[in-house]
Amino acid sequence: MIDSKPEKAADEYTLKGSFSHLPFHSGQRTTRPVIAISLKPLENALVWLMGLIVACGIIINTESRADLPTATLCIAVLLMAINLFSLTAVILVSLFCMLMLTALFLYHGGLERWDWASTTDFFRDLSLLAAITLLALRGKKICDELRHRVIYFSGSQQLSQTGCLGFRSGCEEFGWSEQSARIFEYPVDVKPTVSMVLARTHPADVALVQAGFDKAARHEPLIEIRHRLLMPDGRIKHVHMTATPLSPHFGHLDYLGAVRDVTASKLAEEALCRAQTQLAHVSRVTSLGELAASIAHEVNQPLAAITSSGEACRNWLARPQPDLDEVSQSIERIIISSNRASEITRRVKALSRKSDPLRQNESLNDIVGETLSLVRYELVSHKITPIVELAAFGGLISADRVQLQQVIINLIINACQAMDAVPPNERSLTIRTWVQDNEAVLEVADHGPGIPSDVLPHLFMPFFTTKESGLGMGLSICRSIIDFHEGRIWASVNAQGSSFFFALPIRVANDPGYASAI
Ligand code: ADP
Repeated sequence: MIDSKPEKAADEYTLKGSFSHLPFHSGQRTTRPVIAISLKPLENALVWLMGLIVACGIIINTESRADLPTATLCIAVLLMAINLFSLTAVILVSLFCMLMLTALFLYHGGLERWDWASTTDFFRDLSLLAAITLLALRGKKICDELRHRVIYFSGSQQLSQTGCLGFRSGCEEFGWSEQSARIFEYPVDVKPTVSMVLARTHPADVALVQAGFDKAARHEPLIEIRHRLLMPDGRIKHVHMTATPLSPHFGHLDYLGAVRDVTASKLAEEALCRAQTQLAHVSRVTSLGELAASIAHEVNQPLAAITSSGEACRNWLARPQPDLDEVSQSIERIIISSNRASEITRRVKALSRKSDPLRQNESLNDIVGETLSLVRYELVSHKITPIVELAAFGGLISADRVQLQQVIINLIINACQAMDAVPPNERSLTIRTWVQDNEAVLEVADHGPGIPSDVLPHLFMPFFTTKESGLGMGLSICRSIIDFHEGRIWASVNAQGSSFFFALPIRVANDPGYASAI
């Protein structure tokens, strides 16, 4: 990589825009490159010393005073070549030398004599000086351009937290840029090796990275690895490496790769996920508040059954000839009812639980059935008898049960509220599931007022609501839950009202017929 830098005398240039916030830029016109790639003081002193020795040698070897201008320019070009002179200084030296050459020519009576030999000598020297200057300036310009490109390349690597690397399949040693060394936190002058990379890799990800290098050994066309680094002080970094082959080389394949430090975006992603989980929990608890009457009714039913079975049991026992068969049946009913009551409290507890999402193989139909038992009384109180058509028997989805219940409850409560303004005999709610293109689909269709076309695109946006006391977070949370499940959610207007759908990919086929069909 780059190990030298243009010194103060390098061309002046201005850096604007996105570079202006960088620590190495003052925001004003600068005479220094943005990234200081400086010679070490000892190297600098050596370069000066070498330049002076060569300059003295040129002066000593100058035979006559007439050669002095050419010698001076040679020295200037030499100093420029070793980066100690700027373009402006070389132009000034060159003009000075040409003036000196002309003065010497005139001083020696060149104008009066005007003989062929001395005049051609003069013009030859002059054109020689001009040619040397032009060639030197051109070389200097190309060199500076190259240096600037290297500086921008290096700067952009720092800005984007991306380093580059190049390696040959099956070889232990490889090359990388300074930024790659910074990401892996190795000294920039140490030659990297595969073992060094593995030494920094998080123990749990070593096999993953090793598999990446094995892929390179097999000459695979694209290698992509996302893994963690474990720094000596215990810090964890997240990196994303990609590499693609360049050209074969004696049975080996050269790869060019990039390594990006994605720690910041990974942490932001995790923080967002945590915030979404908390928000979903708050919204779930709010929905439970709305369902309080429904839940109380659901628990009351088995409790009432327990009471009546208990009373019956007492009566059977109070008879002169206790009917033990009837007693046993009553006790059986008590057990069933108390199990039902405790199942309802378990579901409510699960919904109010604050825990990280846990995806498991689930049946969409089972989740819908369980959710309906929680909202049944809510539907009754809105004078709605639901039509339930559950046909998604195709397979299991990978889902967090509680989160999906939350989505379904949200869609059902919205549908109930949408139909509040509709006469009771026209209210209808259909909950349907089916399998299509390897996805389990759910539809909640109502006979409400529908959704105006200008509202449709905003439905799933946070804080969008048309209700007076609405918060507008319900559908937005539904969307983030469905996104988390790698599914899709959408709404449409149907002939009688509106329909809300979500589709989730089927992960496991749970019926043999289905397995052979896909
Ligand atoms: P909120 O219920 O607090 O308004 P939501 O995100 O659940 O928040 O809903 C956003 C908006 O979507 C509602 O205000 C309403 O305008 C519209 N909406 C949701 N469900 C329906 C539905 N079934 N029919 C008509 N409009 C609906």
